[in-house]
Amino acid sequence: MIIAIANQKGGVGKTTTAINLSAALADKGLKTLLVDLDPQGNSSMSYLAPEDLQGPTIYEALTEDSVNCVDIVRPVASNSNLFVAPAGISLAKIESKLLGELDSHYRLKDELEAVQQNFDYLVLDTPPTLGLITINALVAATHVLVPIQSSYFALEGTDDLLETIDKLKVRANPGLQILGAVITLHDKRTLLAKDIVTEIRKVFGDKLFDTVITRSVRLEESPAYRESIFSFSPRSSGAFEYYKLSEEVLSRV
Ligand code: ADP
Ligand code: MG
Repeated sequence: MIIAIANQKGGVGKTTTAINLSAALADKGLKTLLVDLDPQGNSSMSYLAPEDLQGPTIYEALTEDSVNCVDIVRPVASNSNLFVAPAGISLAKIESKLLGELDSHYRLKDELEAVQQNFDYLVLDTPPTLGLITINALVAATHVLVPIQSSYFALEGTDDLLETIDKLKVRANPGLQILGAVITLHDKRTLLAKDIVTEIRKVFGDKLFDTVITRSVRLEESPAYRESIFSFSPRSSGAFEYYKLSEEVLSRV
C-alpha cells in the first residue's frame, strides 16, 4: 500500500498528516516507511537528527544508478516500526536533472518497487506543486489522501489535482484510487467553518473522512522534539484525531 499525501497548496497540513499518519500506522505494529519528497525536508527533520540526515537522500536514489532506495532508509529512534527515506534541498534540482529523460515520471515507482516488500505501508509526503516530484508520487502510489485546509479558499486548486489524477489513471497508473480527503486546521469556533465543511463535502462526497483535524498547538510543536503527536502529547486532540483518521484509512484500504 502506497499512500501519497497530496495537495499542491502549501501549508494545508500535508506534512503534519504524513508524519502522524505514518506514526499511527507504525504504532499499530504496521511496518511503515515515510518517504519525504519535499525539498524542504520537513518530514525528515520531524524524525531524524541532523547527523542522521547526512549521506544519500531520495535525490540520489532517484538520479544515481548506484544509489537505491534501500540505501537511504533510516530507522526512527522513537518508533521501531517507523522508517524514513529523507529528502533535502538537493531535491529541488530534480526537474532540471531529469529534463529530457524518458523515464522521468517513473523514477520513484521503480525505486519503491525494490523496497516495497519490506514494509506494510509507504506514506509519501509531497511538495506544494503539481510538478515532476508530485507526478512521480502519483505514478508510484496506490492511493491518494488529500488534506484540505478548513478555509475560505480551501477548494482552490483541488480541480487541478483531481484532473491530474484522472489523467494519470488513463495510462500511467490505472489502479490509483482516491483514498479520501481530510479537513485540517479546522477551527470549530468560526461560523464560516461549518459552511466550508459543507462546500468540501459537495466536492468529495463520501470520500471526505468523518474525522476532522482541528487546530492544535501540540501538532505544531511535536516535530521540533522529533516525536509524533502520539508520544509527544498522547492525550491531545491532535493525537485523538490522527488516531481516528488512521482507523478510517485502514477501514478503506
Ligand atoms: P504542508 O506540508 O501542506 O505545507 P504542514 O503540515 O507543514 O503543511 O502545515 C503548515 C503549518 O501548519 C506547519 O507549521 C504545521 O505545524 C502547522 N499545522 C498543520 N496542521 C496543524 C493543526 N492541525 N494545528 C495546528 N497547526 C498545524
Ligand atoms: Mg509539507
